[in-house]
Formats: sequence, C-alpha cells, structure tokens
Amino acid sequence: MKKMSHAVWIFGLLLGAAAFLILAPPIVQDQAYHAFADQRTVFGIPNFWNVVSNLPFCIVGILGLRIFRGSAERVLFTGVLLICFGSAYYHLAPSDARLVWDRLPMTLTFMSFLGLIAGEGLGAQRRRRILASLVICGIASVVWWRATGDLRPYVLVQFGSMVALVPAACFSKRMGKPWPVLALYVLAKFAEHYDRAIYSAMPVSGHTLKHLFAALAAYWILHWRIASEDLHQNFFITSEGLRRSKSRIVRP
Ligand SMILES: [Zn+2]
Repeated sequence: MKKMSHAVWIFGLLLGAAAFLILAPPIVQDQAYHAFADQRTVFGIPNFWNVVSNLPFCIVGILGLRIFRGSAERVLFTGVLLICFGSAYYHLAPSDARLVWDRLPMTLTFMSFLGLIAGEGLGAQRRRRILASLVICGIASVVWWRATGDLRPYVLVQFGSMVALVPAACFSKRMGKPWPVLALYVLAKFAEHYDRAIYSAMPVSGHTLKHLFAALAAYWILHWRIASEDLHQNFFITSEGLRRSKSRIVRP
C-alpha cells in the first residue's frame, strides 16, 4: 500500500472498531454453540472428528515455525500450532471455560496476521510495536469475554481483522493478494454455520470441515508469506524448499 492509503486504512480501521464497540449491543455466548452435530465417540475419544480434525493446524504451525524468523510470522504460526491443542481440548468436552483455550490461540493468529499487513513498509521497531499492541488487544478481548460475558471485542478481533483485509488485498502492491485466505475464511464460517445441515448430507459435519478449511487458510498464509518475500516463484512445500526457506527468510 502507498503511505497515504496505508494511513487512511489504519484510521478507517480504528474508526470502524470504535463505532462497532459504541453502537453494537453486547453479544453473549449462545450456549447452543457447544452442541455440535457430530458427537460420535471413536476409540474412546468423544467428539472424535471435531477433535482429530485439528491435527492439520499442528502440521502447518510446525512448518511455519521451521520456515520463518520474523516476529509476526512466529507469533502467527505459534498461534496456529496452539489452535491444534486448544481446539482439541475444547472439543473433548465443549464448554465456555474450555472455549477460552480455543479462542486465545486464534486471537494470536488473527492479530499477528493483521499486524503483518498493518506493519507493511514500516521499520522493524514499529512493526514490533504494532504487533505487540494487536496481540495484547486480542488476548484482552478473550479475557474481557470471560470477565463480563460480552463477546463484542472478540467478534471485533476475529471478523474485524478479516474485514480489514479486504481494502488491504485491493490496494496492497508489495504484500500480494491474500484473497484465498479470505475465501477459505468465508467457507469455514459457512461450514460452521451449517454444521448440522452438512452432517445430515455428508459423512462429516460442517464443524469438522470448518477446521479443515481454517487449517487450509493457515497453510495458504504460509504460502502467501513466502511468495510475498519474493523468494520462490510457485513455491511448494518440499524438504528442499523448507531448507532453502529456513536459510533465507530471516527477519527481525
Ligand atoms: Zn472447533
């Protein structure tokens, strides 16, 4: 993004966030959310498919941590790795108390993703400051939800960061086009919403598919970050690609 459009984007983002927090009524966690369509127990593991479908997050998280050394990418892929454990823990016995451990790593991922874009073209110190502020806001949104029961800040963190991507994807020249990430995010939300309907028509539930789409989105972020570093054209994850990436992608 050009400097001017970058500044307008950040200003618009802050204005939109403030307007949402002031104008939207408090949002409470719907307890029906915990009643997922597919509750089959397999090998003694309850909600088996919603638990094991988190495994791809583990793979993408480890790949990302092996490849990148930049702060935002490290936080992002640490978040992706922790989603595997947090989400599996939640789905073993879904409740608000456990959902905290699913949502905390998600905020790490969403906020560092936003931080990558907001910090585009800035110096290392400012990038780190933006990242730290966003990550603190993300964690605070989950703590706020548990303390007050109001989900607005968390909704803002999750949906707001994806909405913020739209103008960034339109105008950014250096960052590439993260449209597939947005498309996969929409697909994941769609699958989550139609959990039961999908399960009645397919062998897997919408929520299980949501995990897979979301993990694919995380994989695409990995792919996109490598491409936006201009290191590899048509990069595909291979052991050789990993070795070369590890030796070349070193950012503060
Ligand atoms: Zn889930």
